[in-house]
Amino acid sequence: MSAEGPSPLLPMPACAHRPRRYSGPSAKEVLEARRHYCNPALLTYYEKPLMIVEGHMQYLFDERGRRYLDFFAGIVTVSCGHCHPRIVEKIAAQTETLQHTTTIYLHPNMPLFAERLAAKMPDGLDVTYFVNSGSEAIDLAILMARLYTGSADVIALRGGYHGGGSATPRALTAHSTWKYPIAEGGPMHHTFSPDPYRSPFSGSPEEIARKSVEEMADLIRHATPGRVAAFIAEPITGVGGVTSGSPEYLPLAYDLARRHGGLCIADEVQTGFGRTGESYWGFENSGVVPDMVVTAKGIGNGVALAAVTTKREIAEALTERLHFNTFGGNPVAMAAGLAVLDVIDREGLQENCRVVGGFLKRGLAELQERHPLVGDVRGMGLMLGVELVRDRETKEPAGPETAAVLEECRKSGLLLGKSGFFGNVLRIKPPMCITKEDAEFALSVLDRAFGAVEGGVAPKKREK
Ligand code: PMP
Repeated sequence: MSAEGPSPLLPMPACAHRPRRYSGPSAKEVLEARRHYCNPALLTYYEKPLMIVEGHMQYLFDERGRRYLDFFAGIVTVSCGHCHPRIVEKIAAQTETLQHTTTIYLHPNMPLFAERLAAKMPDGLDVTYFVNSGSEAIDLAILMARLYTGSADVIALRGGYHGGGSATPRALTAHSTWKYPIAEGGPMHHTFSPDPYRSPFSGSPEEIARKSVEEMADLIRHATPGRVAAFIAEPITGVGGVTSGSPEYLPLAYDLARRHGGLCIADEVQTGFGRTGESYWGFENSGVVPDMVVTAKGIGNGVALAAVTTKREIAEALTERLHFNTFGGNPVAMAAGLAVLDVIDREGLQENCRVVGGFLKRGLAELQERHPLVGDVRGMGLMLGVELVRDRETKEPAGPETAAVLEECRKSGLLLGKSGFFGNVLRIKPPMCITKEDAEFALSVLDRAFGAVEGGVAPKKREK
């Protein structure tokens, strides 16, 4: 056993960081305490849950000091790298000076950060509300859309995920229509996603995009009073399996929603801040300009921070209500946000997503040629998805096999996520600082894992 724990099956790129010696409770004790005292709805990955006690840039370390390449980054919560020294330094400096104050008093960090965010947005989107989580931000955006338009109905994509807020439970397809089917209707409606791989419509991605928008028109005609408050979509779905469809989709969907009086909300919680490589914001890849942009996760590189950026006249709608958020806009979170914007620019992280993400996607497409398990490779930049199927013709989802691939990758020191309705899409969303060597390592690990699972590591029957 090396200083990093058991030798990895494949050589991992070098890393100068040495983790501290861990002397806390064992993984078994932590698991027992969690089971006893914490939220019983929490889930863990892996047959034997992994305990992580330290992070450095693209790497995580378990309690024994074993290093893992993090290709999941807590579902892109960490944009610039775990414990990025410059961001930590800025957070620590602010924490030592003033941790919290109410927005009733002035502090420079909030307007400074709001101004910097406005500079990154399309013209006119220059007013930001700060909150603490993506769910809160989505709730707030929908509330504003309803107040501004005077309409109630909201259209979201099937397979979209917008958090766990209470005011908008039916936007939460992952929680509602996915797991516990509840009747659709009411003020939240779900329209078909333009995902070319699993769309009920046939044809090219462009035809599927057009047919999906026609279906949305039908939905508006039949299920709403003819006017809607908002259309909300992720430019690339995160929890829903890294799907997007043709870039023609969003312009058509936005146009339709606007013709019915609705505002267009881009949920950039996973796609924002350069992750898709080609553009800073995911919506730019389709050439649309939303009325509201919701950001969270990567915006704070791990610090609880989320935002809704919109046009002044829409933002004014909320002055009809008192909007007060105890921690929203606090100086520590704002310091983190400011440092994140700096690091993304200084370190060329958007370009890194484009270059390394492109390399990785080409490598995954090569693996697809050799491994029948790989049904589809998709996504942009460092937001990639690999859909695993038992049969490429029938597209039968390979759910247990996906779990087995995750286990195999973990053995080799690579952490991945999974998503999609059937849990059969590998989610690749590393910190945006990964190198080409990391990508090469990940491709060899995946090659080995696909081979092992195709060779019979995974159960042949779907788990009950
Ligand atoms: N929108 C998207 C696209 C998300 O992926 C998530 C979280 N997975 C949310 C909203 C909700 O964010 P939070 O968990 O911070 O409430």
